[in-house]
Amino acid sequence: MAGDLQHIEDKFVTQSGREVTLQIFTEAHNIDKVAYAMTSLKNAMAWDEKVYGREYDLDIFMIVAVESFNMGAMENKGLNIFNTSCVLARPDTTTDAGYQRVEGVVAHEYFHNWSGNRVTCRDWFQLSLKEGFTVLRDQQFSSDMGSATVCRINDVATLRTAQFPEDAGPMAHSIRPDSYIEINNFYTATVYEKGAEVVRMISTLLGPDRFRLGTDLYFDRHDGQAVTTEDFVKAMEDANDIDLSQFRLWYRQAGTPVLAISSDYDEGANTYTLHVEQACPATPGQESKEPFHLPLSLGLLDESGQDIALEENRRPACPEGAQASARKRDLVLNITQDKESFTFENIESNPIPSLLRGFSAPVKLEYDYTRDELMFLMSHDSDGFNRWEAGQRLAVDVIQEIVRQIQTGAEIVVDDRLVKACENNLNQAIEHDRDGSIDKAMIATMLVMSQETYLAELAKVADVDAIHQAREAVRGEIATRLKGLLLSVYKLNQDAGQYQLDAKAIARRSLKNMALSYLMQPNDTEMVSLCIQQFEKADNMTDTSAAIRALVNSGAETAQAGKEKALTGFFNHWSDEALVIDQWFSIQAACPLPDTLQRVKTLMTHSAFDMKNPNRMRSLVSTFAFQNNVNFHQRNGGGYVFLADRVIELDAINPQMAARILSPLTRWGKYDEQRQDLMKAELNRILETENLSENVFEVASKGLKPVEVLKPQSG
Ligand SMILES: [Zn+2]
Repeated sequence: MAGDLQHIEDKFVTQSGREVTLQIFTEAHNIDKVAYAMTSLKNAMAWDEKVYGREYDLDIFMIVAVESFNMGAMENKGLNIFNTSCVLARPDTTTDAGYQRVEGVVAHEYFHNWSGNRVTCRDWFQLSLKEGFTVLRDQQFSSDMGSATVCRINDVATLRTAQFPEDAGPMAHSIRPDSYIEINNFYTATVYEKGAEVVRMISTLLGPDRFRLGTDLYFDRHDGQAVTTEDFVKAMEDANDIDLSQFRLWYRQAGTPVLAISSDYDEGANTYTLHVEQACPATPGQESKEPFHLPLSLGLLDESGQDIALEENRRPACPEGAQASARKRDLVLNITQDKESFTFENIESNPIPSLLRGFSAPVKLEYDYTRDELMFLMSHDSDGFNRWEAGQRLAVDVIQEIVRQIQTGAEIVVDDRLVKACENNLNQAIEHDRDGSIDKAMIATMLVMSQETYLAELAKVADVDAIHQAREAVRGEIATRLKGLLLSVYKLNQDAGQYQLDAKAIARRSLKNMALSYLMQPNDTEMVSLCIQQFEKADNMTDTSAAIRALVNSGAETAQAGKEKALTGFFNHWSDEALVIDQWFSIQAACPLPDTLQRVKTLMTHSAFDMKNPNRMRSLVSTFAFQNNVNFHQRNGGGYVFLADRVIELDAINPQMAARILSPLTRWGKYDEQRQDLMKAELNRILETENLSENVFEVASKGLKPVEVLKPQSG
């Protein structure tokens, strides 16, 4: 590694008393933004000793940050190489989410010292051995550093928007792929995020203490070796006397299983039975699947909203194959069959089940909840994740109903219960504003409606425009009906005094900015000036970017003048800060308004745009193609042509990245025939390009084949 670099230095004393020198290198103009990465590194080193018993082995640990890098970071032993986007942080240039990303990625790469370097992969098919396990480790670390529930919610939201569509498309592969042309194409959400879910399931089946026995044995047994996912699973078995034969299917079978659950209550016998069925759709090369072994974590709520005890005093009544978690009143059922039933005894009234607590398995859960039951779970479930999930289910149900109203030309009616649920949350936030009894980050998360990419994923055939219109209708209704409450929340959560970066301050900012995004929905002059005021006065990037995003996204006429002025002011002020200018591009590329494709095309010719810089390319082109569903999928196919042109251009200079940005075109299976044809035509056009790289060839050719063609021939 060579360059004109400066560095900061610190030290860490390990649990056995050895002193380790820590250094972070970067170019001079960024040296004032690396202190937070150093703090995160020290926290990660201490955490890995405490939670996994892993001590650092060398006398020096270095990080170097570079501005032009395809990946987030790379764990080269003793000298981690980082994209500046995962290292640099300063309050005026970095959002709270950016800070959390730095903390998470610094930890992730550090954790690789054990899970990746001292114990490494025998071959590339084992990539998930180190990535799945290390992603889990960084998720656990972030959850210990901040709001555990909000971390879990964000992890699951990422899985659902990035991994579920991949697992349902032509590029679906198991976490240990069977074949590849170019391994760079397999640094995927499946290998990383689903890989982490698979290791998390082992941890859930074993419980934290027994999982630790397993990881201790794995590290002791394989220190200094290059091993396989099989060796990892074997260590878990050998340390714990558990049979994971069937569980190993998660490493071989692709696709997202569907878990369909129904229940019945016998009033005379006081028994409650859950009927659980699992099925997994066909994926390329895998027509039929064997049933998975998975942990189903659950609780049962009585009519007052309390968890019915399913442990200790009720142990004899626990069904076979179940194991009560020591900490909570959750029960973990081992699901192993296509179809099975579990009966609970001594249940005195018909309970409401809280299923798949903490998202205990990467599946799609089907249970026929009524909207009233979902409302009940939202306010009573003791599992924070499932409180959020109940709210999401309610909102998704309402949005899907509105999609049908739009499709049939009926009047749009937003179910009152959804507005009521948001009202309850806002009231809670106001009532407990100062007493600290409420997690404001959680309330803010509860108010986020599911992303359009996830809503598209849930539909059989995604009606892009109706989904967008329905989601906007819901947001508009909430904004109009709850304006007073939203404004109170906005005002109550202003930063008082100096900028702080603790969990409470982050939570306050996220709630305030959530309120702002709703308040900017209607065409309201007063709110527009409130937003401009926030933009002009903010002393931190979280508030600045939330304000400019709300202005850019606003279709209100009164916002137009302020929008252009803010964008120009923002650019001029930050033109020397590459990562801030990335945000400037990204905010414009994500805008749902109809003229966005034209704006993105114009931005391609901007003097600050450089196709050779991966961060810049991602901020403009990837943001548009991956996050801006309504504009990327515009009916005339303009978004598809735009992306294919970029893939072809980029392939000549950066094939790795060209293959990466192309994947939205492979998701054609979700859309109507007209869009399918347009998307496939662009994939064909890419394939006809001369001198195409293997990277792009692999994704485009596999992406073009319908699942049927890849199925094994019968007869
Ligand atoms: Zn990694």
